[in-house]
Amino acid sequence: MLQATLLCIVLICVPIKSSAIINRFEECVLDPKLVQEIASYKNVTQQIMKEIINYYGEDMYKEYEKFIDVFGARPSGSDVLEQPYSKNIAILGFGTSVSTPSEGITAEAIVVNSFEALDKLEKSKIKGKIVVFDAHYVTYGDTVIYRSQGATKASKKGAIATLVRSITPFSIYSLHTGAQFYGDSVTKIPTAAITHEDADLMRRLQDRGEKIVLHIKMFSTFYVKKSRNTIIDLNGKEHPEKQVIVSGHIDSWDVGTGAMDDGGGMMISWFVPVILNKLNLKPKRTVRAILWTSEEPGLVGAAAYLNKHINELDNINFIMESDEGTFKPLGLDVAGSNTARCIIKEILNLFAPIDKMTNSGGPGSDIVLFVRKGLPGASLLNANERYFWFHHSEGDTMNVQSKPDVIECAAFWAAISYIIADLSVDIPRA
Ligand SMILES: [Zn+2]
Repeated sequence: MLQATLLCIVLICVPIKSSAIINRFEECVLDPKLVQEIASYKNVTQQIMKEIINYYGEDMYKEYEKFIDVFGARPSGSDVLEQPYSKNIAILGFGTSVSTPSEGITAEAIVVNSFEALDKLEKSKIKGKIVVFDAHYVTYGDTVIYRSQGATKASKKGAIATLVRSITPFSIYSLHTGAQFYGDSVTKIPTAAITHEDADLMRRLQDRGEKIVLHIKMFSTFYVKKSRNTIIDLNGKEHPEKQVIVSGHIDSWDVGTGAMDDGGGMMISWFVPVILNKLNLKPKRTVRAILWTSEEPGLVGAAAYLNKHINELDNINFIMESDEGTFKPLGLDVAGSNTARCIIKEILNLFAPIDKMTNSGGPGSDIVLFVRKGLPGASLLNANERYFWFHHSEGDTMNVQSKPDVIECAAFWAAISYIIADLSVDIPRA
């Protein structure tokens, strides 16, 4: 193998005049008999192609998958080229998961693609095993239940750990974490993400009737330090007690850098009172930026704020959050009465083409607690089709961000907050 490599290098170093050779094809002059002979192969060519594409290709592809699954990476000179291997698979623990014992867990794995499939299996088939949830991504909302509830469902049937196909529509061997919650009185079992690639691998092994044995070692840490929401106010010049809130969350998961989730939303919100003050634009109502803490484990900072200010909710005129990316801004997702939505739509018209308005019913993440109390609110609509490619993964870094798009989000966020805070009328409640 070493010789072959050297030969390649020599070939690259001494290029042949390949373009001249290719051009000479135009001048081909062949014996007409040979041309006729080649033409006579037409039928058999079509026969071979048809047989493989319509029939035998399946078998070839099965052998191909099997070879790749059994040998995996096979560097020249390694033992793997000669014999099947045992594979290291990457895992990433979910928030609140317990650790494995220090020596790890070794057990047989069973792959299921849904809760229904798990329900159909006898308890005896699950007991003592590691359940691998291989549910393919539909939408985040549809698929995230395997992360948030998978351990609880599997534990109830006697599983000793779960691994969950990462909740993302796209993977280059990427792991995506997130919150999970143990149900009351279930045995807490370790639960972690695996990549699409490894979920598919285990599914194929199981489909071929092979026994999958996993050894899992995972350590989790619980941080217990006191944390805080960060608040920046630009006091209103006529009704300082009335507030228009803009927000994002300051915490992130432990992978990546939280640049997208939710560094962007946090930053454009922080910037609103700061820039309005700098521009000497003091609206009638107070503009309050809130950088929520502890959103990821379950809206902890927002719940604490709501609890503390529960008697002052009438003062919140409108509440906004950006927590689904700061890609190219498109408009707002607005919750509120019809009149509230009409006023916001009229304001949005000033920003065309950033004038889309949707009504998902639950804008934002943290602010949903306030919207459920009847407050009108909105979240930033942006071109975030690839948000879940990076969400809660090592891929959530500044590389995901586009400077012009983030700046456009900041400009839109500040200007629309200003108008709402300065308008002669309050945004009416439902
Ligand atoms: Zn977030």
